[in-house]
Amino acid sequence: MKKVVVIGGVAGGASAAARIRRLDEQAQIVMFERGPHVSFSNCSLPFYLSGVVADSKKLLMMTPESFEVKHNIDARVNSEVIAINREEKTVTVQHTQTGEVTTESYDKLVLSPGASPIVPNLPGTDLPHVFTVRNVVDIERLHTAIVERDAQNIAVIGGGFIGIEVAENLRLAGRNVALVEFAPQILTPFDEDMVQILHKEMVDKGVDLIVGDGLANITPTTIGLNSGTEINADIVVLAIGVRPETMLAEKAGLTIGETGAIHVNQNYQTNDPNIYAVGDAIEVYHRLMHKKVRLALAGPAQRQARAVADHMYGIPVTNKGVIGSSSIQVFDYAAAATGLNERTAQQLGLQVEAVYVIAPDKVGLMPSSNPLHFKLIYEVPTGRVLGAQAIGKGNADKRIDVIATLITMNGTIEDLKELELSYSPMFSTAKDVVNIAALVATNLMAGRFKQVRVHEVRSLVEQGAYILDVRERAEFAQGALKGAVNIPLGELRERMAEVPKDVPVYVSCRSAQRSYNAVMALNHNGYTNVANVSGSFLGICLYE
Ligand code: FAD
Repeated sequence: MKKVVVIGGVAGGASAAARIRRLDEQAQIVMFERGPHVSFSNCSLPFYLSGVVADSKKLLMMTPESFEVKHNIDARVNSEVIAINREEKTVTVQHTQTGEVTTESYDKLVLSPGASPIVPNLPGTDLPHVFTVRNVVDIERLHTAIVERDAQNIAVIGGGFIGIEVAENLRLAGRNVALVEFAPQILTPFDEDMVQILHKEMVDKGVDLIVGDGLANITPTTIGLNSGTEINADIVVLAIGVRPETMLAEKAGLTIGETGAIHVNQNYQTNDPNIYAVGDAIEVYHRLMHKKVRLALAGPAQRQARAVADHMYGIPVTNKGVIGSSSIQVFDYAAAATGLNERTAQQLGLQVEAVYVIAPDKVGLMPSSNPLHFKLIYEVPTGRVLGAQAIGKGNADKRIDVIATLITMNGTIEDLKELELSYSPMFSTAKDVVNIAALVATNLMAGRFKQVRVHEVRSLVEQGAYILDVRERAEFAQGALKGAVNIPLGELRERMAEVPKDVPVYVSCRSAQRSYNAVMALNHNGYTNVANVSGSFLGICLYE
C-alpha cells in the first residue's frame, strides 16, 4: 500500500489528494495544512468584503471531516510541516496550537505550500490596521476590523488581481477606497491601451486610483507615498504580490529555479523523484515565452495536481506548459486576457502585430448589447496567434477562452477567421468579435490596408496630419480630433475629390469599422497612402 503525504490543503494539495484517492482506493493519504481550514475558495475571498459572499463559512468547500467521510483522506489542520527528512522519507510536523511535534513517513510526498503575500520593509507595515489577504482567517480579520472600527477610508496597495478585487468589493460595501499602484497601470496582463478602460471604470465608480506612485510609509491614520502625497487610511490592505513558499523545500535541499520558485521537471518532480511540487510555489514552462515563469493561478495549480497523481500511477500526461489566462470583474466591466500581451511580446523580441477592434458583443438590437473591446496579438509573418485581451460589459471571458484554446492548439489568424462559433442574437453576432479581429488581421497581413495605432494619433494630430473622420455630422459635432475633416461615409464617394491625394490620409470613425470601409473605397479610387485609425474615436478617447 502506497503512503502519500501532501503538504498544503487548498488548491493544489486538496486536488492532488482527491485525485490520488480516485486512482487508488488502498493508498494511505495524509494531508497537512498549517491553517485551520482546508479546501477553501481563495478566489472568492474578496467577495466576502462586499457581502456578495454573505457568510465566510460558505468559503469553505470541504472540512477535515468531509475529507475523511467522502474520500478517506486524513486531513490535519493546524499542522505545519517544519522539515522534510529525505533520507528517512519522513516529515516533521508541528501543531500550530499545542506545539506538539510528530513525525510522519511517506512513500511519495507532494508539496503544494503556495505563495505568501509580500510585506515590504517600510515604516508602519507592522501596525495592527495593516492586512494582507490569503486565506479565510485573513479575510475574516479584515472584515471584522473594518466593521469594528467603522473604517471609512481604506487604502489598498497594489493593482494586481487581488488588490483590484479587494478595492472593488470594499467600494461596493460603501467605503472610500484609494488604490495605489507603483507601475503606470493596474493589471499588467493588459496592455496600456486596453487597461485605460479599467482605469476609467475604477475612477467612475469612485475609487481614488493612483498609478505610478509607491507606498513610502504607514501611520495609524494615513499612508505616505513616494511622491509625498498623504492619504487618510483607517485600514491598509497590502496586495503588492506574492512570494513562493520555498523555505521548506530549500531546507530539504530541493532545487530552487531561476525564478526563485521550486524547480520541477515535466512531471512536476523535484530533484528528488519521490517529491513532487505544484501550484504557486513552483516555476512552470511558458510555452510562448519558452522560459520558466511563476504563475500564481488556481487553474494551473489544479491541473498540475492531477498530473502529479496520474504520474504517480503511471498514467501518461503531456505537459503543454502554460500560456497564462486570466479574467476579472471590474465593477460593470468584465476583462480577460490570455497568452502574451503586446508589451511582453516586444520585450521578448518577437515580430508581432496587433489589431484592436471594438464590436458589439451581441446583435445591437438586443437590449443588453454592449461594445466589446478586443485586442489580438499575432506573430508576423506566420500569423500564429500569441495573445488576446477583451474588455466589455458582456462576455469578455468567453472570447478569451476561444483564443486560449486556439493558442494551445497552435492556431493562426487564418484558423481564427474560419472558426465556426455558435450564434444567436442574444449571445453574439453572426461574425463574432474574435472572427472580426482575425479578418482585420488577415487583411492587414495581406497588405489590403494599413493601420495606425491609437498611441500614434496624438503626434499625427500635432504634426497637422490629414485626418478624415467619416462619422455622421451629429457624432462629429459632439467631439472630434483637432483639425479632423468630417465627410460622413455616406457622402464620401460624391465628395472624394475633397480628400487630397498627395498627403497621407488617416481615416477615423467611432470604432474603426466605418473608417475601414472608407479606407477600402479610397484605396480602390487610386489613393495609395491611406491608413485606418485602429480603435478610432472610442479607442483614442480612452487612451488619451
Ligand atoms: P494555496 O491554495 O495557497 O495553498 C497552500 C496552502 O499550503 C496554504 O493554505 C498554506 O497554509 C499551506 N502551507 C504552506 N506551507 C505549509 C507547511 N509547511 N505545512 C503545512 N501547510 C502549509 N487564481 C485564479 O486563477 N483566479 C482567481 O480569481 C484568483 N483569485 C484569488 C484571490 C485571492 C484573494 C487569492 C489569495 C488568490 C487568488 N487566486 C486566483 C490564486 C489562487 O488561489 C492560487 O493560485 C492557488 O490557490 C494556488 O494553489 P496552491 O495549492 O499552490 O496554494
